[in-house]
Amino acid sequence: MKQVHKTYSTHERTRPIMVGNHQIGKDIVVIAGPCSVESQDQILTAARQMKAAGATMLRGGAFKPRSSPYSFQGLGERGIRFLYAAKEETGLPIVSELMTPDHLPLFEQYVDVIQIGARNMQNYDLLKAVGRSHLPVLLKRGLSARVDEFLLAAEYIMAEGNDQVILCERGIRTFETATRSTLDLSAVPVLKEKTYLPVIVDPSHAAGRYDLVAPLSKAAIAVGADGLIIEVHPNPKEALCDGPQSLTPKRYGDLINSLVPLAASTGRQLAL
Ligand code: PEP
Ligand code: MN
Repeated sequence: MKQVHKTYSTHERTRPIMVGNHQIGKDIVVIAGPCSVESQDQILTAARQMKAAGATMLRGGAFKPRSSPYSFQGLGERGIRFLYAAKEETGLPIVSELMTPDHLPLFEQYVDVIQIGARNMQNYDLLKAVGRSHLPVLLKRGLSARVDEFLLAAEYIMAEGNDQVILCERGIRTFETATRSTLDLSAVPVLKEKTYLPVIVDPSHAAGRYDLVAPLSKAAIAVGADGLIIEVHPNPKEALCDGPQSLTPKRYGDLINSLVPLAASTGRQLAL
C-alpha cells in the first residue's frame, strides 16, 4: 500500500481545528478539570470553577485506564452524562478518554473531543475506530513512544479520514524518578516542524506534582505549544485519582493570570 503521510507537511503551518467557538492551533487553548468524574456535584463544581477562572474546555475521565485493577475505574456512562450536564450549564466543550470502540456511539452523542490516552496510543483498532468518527481526537503520546511512532499513530487516525487530530506531549518514561514522567519539551518544536497538527502539553501527568505544573506550563508556551491540558480538582486531597498532581481552583486561577502576559509576549493570546 502506498505510504501517504497525511500528518506531514513541510510547507503548511499549523492548521486550526474548530471546537465550539475556538480554533485549536490559533489562540492558546487551556483544557482544565479533574482527572476523573467522581460525582455529579464534583464535576459541576469543577466546571463552574474552571469557567470562572478561565478555560477553553472541560476535561474529566469517565473510563479510566488505571495501573491497578483495584483502583477507581471511573463512573463509566454515568460519568459521561454528568460531564454533559456540566457542559450544558457552563457552555464549556468537554473532553473525555475513550478506551474501547464499543463506547464510540456514546461519545459521539455527548462529547466534543475524544481523548486517546498514552496507554492506548498504539491500540490500532481504537485509532482506526476514531479515525472513522467526525469528532476531533486528542492523541496523547505513548509512555515510551518516539516522535516518529507518535506521528504514525496520528497517521492511523487520519488514514481513515479523520484529519482533526490534536497531539499531546505528556511526558515519557526515562531513568529519572524525581518526576512521574520526563516532559519532553523539545518534542513540541520538533512536532511543529514536522506536522501541521496542533500540539498541546500536559504538565500534570508529566510532573505528577502540582507544584511543577505552573513552571512547566510556562515553559510549554515559551516553546510554542498550542495549548495545555491541566488537572484541577475542587479538593485535590479528596481526589479519587491523581490528587497529588491536581491544582486547586485558586492555584489554577493564579496560573491562568500569569499565562496571559506570557502568551502575549510570544505574540499569542489565551482562548478563554
Ligand atoms: C489522563 O489524562 O487522566 C490520563 C490518564 O492521561 P495519560 O493517558 O497521559 O496518562
Ligand atoms: Mn489523570
